[in-house]
Amino acid sequence: MSAVPLLETVGLTKYFAGGRSLLRRETRTVRALDGVSLTIQEQETVGVVGESGCGKTTLGRAILGLIRPTSGRVLFEGTDLVPLSRREMRGYRRNIQMVFQSPYDSFDPRFSVLSSVGEPLRTHSSLRGDALVARARELLEQTGMPGEILYRYPHEFSGGQLQRIAVARALALNPKFIVLDEPTSALDVSVQAQIINLLQALQQELKLTYMFITHDLSVVQHISDRIAVMYLGKVVELTTTEAIFADAKHPYTQALLASAPSLDPEYRRERIILEGGVPDPANPPSGCSFHPRCPVAIEVCSRDEPAFLDVGDGHMVSCHLVSAAES
Ligand code: SF4
Repeated sequence: MSAVPLLETVGLTKYFAGGRSLLRRETRTVRALDGVSLTIQEQETVGVVGESGCGKTTLGRAILGLIRPTSGRVLFEGTDLVPLSRREMRGYRRNIQMVFQSPYDSFDPRFSVLSSVGEPLRTHSSLRGDALVARARELLEQTGMPGEILYRYPHEFSGGQLQRIAVARALALNPKFIVLDEPTSALDVSVQAQIINLLQALQQELKLTYMFITHDLSVVQHISDRIAVMYLGKVVELTTTEAIFADAKHPYTQALLASAPSLDPEYRRERIILEGGVPDPANPPSGCSFHPRCPVAIEVCSRDEPAFLDVGDGHMVSCHLVSAAES
C-alpha cells in the first residue's frame, strides 16, 4: 500500500443556498457535505452508501471538480485539486472519470457510439482518424460490446448495453480513479450483477481504483473493500466491508442493513424500522443529526455532536453510545 493515498478528501464541505424560508426572511443554507474526510488507496474500492439527500452524489461531483467545494481539500496523489484553474485541472481530469446512474441520460441521442466514446479522445488526446476509431473499438470490446456497434445510436441499446458503453467512454483516457454513481440502480437485477462483474474484471486488468456510490448496501457488498456510510452530509461509519456486515456499530448502518434484502442467511438480521424521513439539510437537528430517528438515542445525543472516532482496527464511528461502550 502506497504511503500517499491515491485520493483523499480533507474536511470537505459544500453548502448550497437553498432559497428563502417561508416564514423567515433569511436565506437557507443546505449543508450537502459537512466535513467529509476520506482516503482511498490505489486499486481499492470504497463504497459510499446512504439514503438520497445524504450528500454522496455531491461528494462524487466535488471530487471530480464538477462543483467547487465550499471548503476543504481534494488531494489526488498528494496534489490539492480544489485551487486548480480549469486549465490546470485538465491534466488531472484524464485520471478521474465518472459513470452516472442513468445510462439513458448519459448519451446524446443524436450522436453515434463512435461520437460519444471518441469524444474524450478528441478533447484530451492527439488520436484522430483510423487510430481514434481503432481505440474506440478496443474500448467497446474491453467492456464486452462488439466493435461493430460504433456507428449505431443510443436508442438501439438496452440499459445494460448502454452502461457498458458508458464504462467504455470512462476508460478512454486510461484513468486511475473512477467515481461510479449508482451505476446499476436503473438496471434489472440480473443485469446489475453483469455490470458489477465487468467492473471487477476491469479493475483487476487495468489496476483501477473506484468510489462506488449507492443507496443500497447489498449492492456494494461484493465490490467494495471498505464502506463509508453517510448521513446528512457526514460520514458516520467507515470500515472494511467485512466489518460492516459482521459488526456494524452505528445505529443508522444497522437500520440500513436491516432494510437491505440479503440472500446470505448469515447477514439476515432483526428488522429495525427507520422512523420518519431524512431531516431537512438546511435545518439539521442539533447534536447527533440522526437522533430524531435513532431507536437508542440518549439525552446527550440531542445536545452534543459525537466525534468520529477509531473504535479499533481503523473502524471509525460517530456515535456517543458506541464510543462509551468501547472506552
Ligand atoms: Fe443514536 Fe445517539 Fe449514536 Fe446518534 S449518537 S446514533 S442518536 S445513539
